[in-house]
Amino acid sequence: MEFSSKLLENAVNEMSQLPGIGKRTALRLVLHLLKQSENQTVTLAESLRKMREEVNFCSNCHNISDTKLCEICANPNRNEALVCVVEDIRDVMAIENTSQYKGHYHVLGGKISPMDGVGPGELTIQSLIDKVKNGRVEELIFALSSTMEGDTTNFYIFKQIESFNIKTTTIARGISVGDELEYADEVTLGRSIVHRIPFETSLKN
Ligand SMILES: [Zn+2]
Repeated sequence: MEFSSKLLENAVNEMSQLPGIGKRTALRLVLHLLKQSENQTVTLAESLRKMREEVNFCSNCHNISDTKLCEICANPNRNEALVCVVEDIRDVMAIENTSQYKGHYHVLGGKISPMDGVGPGELTIQSLIDKVKNGRVEELIFALSSTMEGDTTNFYIFKQIESFNIKTTTIARGISVGDELEYADEVTLGRSIVHRIPFETSLKN
């Protein structure tokens, strides 16, 4: 792509670093911003900078939150003995949308994936194990997407907490293999949480 302006080229290059945004889409977005008022671009840049600088993670569940303890963890009506293990905030949002779940979450921040250089140490697994060790958890619900990485992560955590004698379950697989949780429709996802199955049953499949 040949640019008549270095400034334009820089902006397009930065924009095209984002996932799913190729050079052509980046150019379209940048040209769009140029057509809008300058104030709009400044507001966009400022909101990104502010989010980046001030973003905070809940000290209990590691979800993105503006407060030290997120709204879910701070809510006395939620059951803290029931913990749903998810990959990131998108899964929390998807499950919350079903209105079928009244427990807590534990946000891992990803899945174990040696190919991408993500080991257990890069995730919040130790904090989850500590939570179980402290006797605060009665049931862990594994709700990672059923990809190879999701299964590996579930199994790794399961092995670490097996001896603590807590209930481990997994969401019922109305959700087909490889599907990401965030794409499951609310009714299906809600149903799979309500009708969750013992984790060990899922291993035999
Ligand atoms: Zn929280």
